[in-house]
Amino acid sequence: MTQTLPLLPKVELHVHLEGTIGVATARKLAVKNNLPFPETILNENGHYKGGNLPDFLVSYDTVAGFIRQPSDYTDILYAYLIDVAAQGCVYEEIMVAPDFAADNGVSYVDFMDALALAIDKARAETGIEARLNIASLRHHGAQKTYELAKTVIANPHPYVVGFGNGGNEMMHHFRDFKLAFDLIRNETNLGIHVHAGEACGAQSVWDALDYINPARIGHGVRSVEDERLMDELAERRIVLEICPSSNIELGVYPSYDAHPFNVLVDAGIPVTVNSDDPPFFHTTLAHEYKIVQDKFRRTQSDCLHYTKTAIRHAFCGDTLKEQLLKRVGEYAETLQSE
Ligand SMILES: [Zn+2]
Repeated sequence: MTQTLPLLPKVELHVHLEGTIGVATARKLAVKNNLPFPETILNENGHYKGGNLPDFLVSYDTVAGFIRQPSDYTDILYAYLIDVAAQGCVYEEIMVAPDFAADNGVSYVDFMDALALAIDKARAETGIEARLNIASLRHHGAQKTYELAKTVIANPHPYVVGFGNGGNEMMHHFRDFKLAFDLIRNETNLGIHVHAGEACGAQSVWDALDYINPARIGHGVRSVEDERLMDELAERRIVLEICPSSNIELGVYPSYDAHPFNVLVDAGIPVTVNSDDPPFFHTTLAHEYKIVQDKFRRTQSDCLHYTKTAIRHAFCGDTLKEQLLKRVGEYAETLQSE
C-alpha cells in the first residue's frame, strides 16, 4: 500500500468561491462586518446543515452575504488555494459570482482585482495555479445573466477564462439564457459550462446542449437516465464535472453505491472529480478523490487520468496546460519507478 494518495496531483474545475467558506470563517466574517449569524444554518454538530438544493442555497446565500470588503474575497480565495495546494491540487478553476459581490457593495473590477491578488499570492507560496469562471445566478433570471455577460465583455481580465451559470437549476429554461451565452461565444474566447442534470433529469442536459452548447457540464450525473444522451456526451467529448459528495448530501442519490460515476465512465464520457462546496458538503477535494478510489473502486492511475482530463478540458491557455500535464507526468513516472 503506497502512501501517495495525499500527494496525487489533483485539479478542480467545479468549486464555488463562497462555497469554500467554512463555519469558523463565516462566523468571523459576520462578526467583522457586524452582521447576525443565524444558527439555523447549522446542524447539532455545528456543521452546515444538509438538505435539498433550495435549502442549501438559502445557507449558501446567507454565508455569501457576510462579505463586505474586496479584501474579504482575497482572504477567502487565498485560504482555499493554500488548503487545496496542501492536498496536492495543482490547478483550480473557481466559479465566482459578481452578482453576489455587487450585492455586497463590491464592483466587478474590484472583485476581479481582489481575486487576482489571492491567485498571485497563493502561486508565489505554493506553486498552485488558478483561474476564474464567471458564474451567473440562474434563479436571478436571464436578463441578469445578459447584463453580466456585457460586463464581462467590457472588462476583460487575464485570469477570467470561463462563463457559466449556477444557482437553482429548477428555475427558468436554458432557452431563456441562449442570448447571453451566444453573446459570450461571439465576443470572447471564454469557455462555457453550465449546471445541468443534477436536480433535474436528462432533459435538462439535452436542453443545455441544444440551447447553450457548453464544453463542460456541472454535475450532469442524471445523464445516466438516457442512454442516447450518454452516447451524445461521449461522442462530443463533453466533460462532466462530477461532485460525488454534493450529490449524496443534496439527496440526488441515496448512497455512493447508487451513484452512477462508473456507468458514466464506462459509457466513455470524460469525467473530472470536484468538491462543489466542500464545507457545506462536509468534504474536501482530496476526500472526493478518495471516494472515487474507495467507493467507486477506481485505481490511483484512473484518478491520475481524471486529473489529466481536467487539465485538457480546463479553460486556461495551452501553455499553462502543457506545464500542468508535465507536472502530472512527472508524478506518474515516480509511481512507475516505485
Ligand atoms: Zn456547483
